[in-house]
Amino acid sequence: MAIEATRIRGACLCGAVAFVVWGPFERFVLCHCSRCRKATASAYAANLFTAPDHVEWLRGTDLMRRYQVPEARSFSKCFCTQCGSALPYVSRNGAHLIVPAGVLDEDPGVVPDRQIFWDSHACWYEAGLAAPRFAGYPPEGWLPDAE
Ligand SMILES: [Zn+2]
Ligand SMILES: [Zn+2]
Repeated sequence: MAIEATRIRGACLCGAVAFVVWGPFERFVLCHCSRCRKATASAYAANLFTAPDHVEWLRGTDLMRRYQVPEARSFSKCFCTQCGSALPYVSRNGAHLIVPAGVLDEDPGVVPDRQIFWDSHACWYEAGLAAPRFAGYPPEGWLPDAE
């Protein structure tokens, strides 16, 4: 009897697009390349890789759009046109479903196994990891008071 894979729920920021994905996740990659930094507007992309048919769309697929960098070998981004959240998509070669980990609502049950394009990492990334941590907003407020 086959063991049923754990189904992991995800949704975009506005909630219009929702889905379920499942493993086994072959990779969990943090990509520091300049395209991923642009596409996420953050330090890196965190992507899980699974089989192309390991997704069930629950709602909102009509709001999804895909952007492919024309000159890139494989770079794509799929996103909600209402809120801009990244969403899962099938790789250009059809081999993988690429799942942006930050859009999941549940623990995928795996941790990142590699970081790629480290030579392109944001110059502020490592310093940011060492910055003071607060459970929520810092007690003195979120920004210094205006003079
Ligand atoms: Zn959305
Ligand atoms: Zn990248």
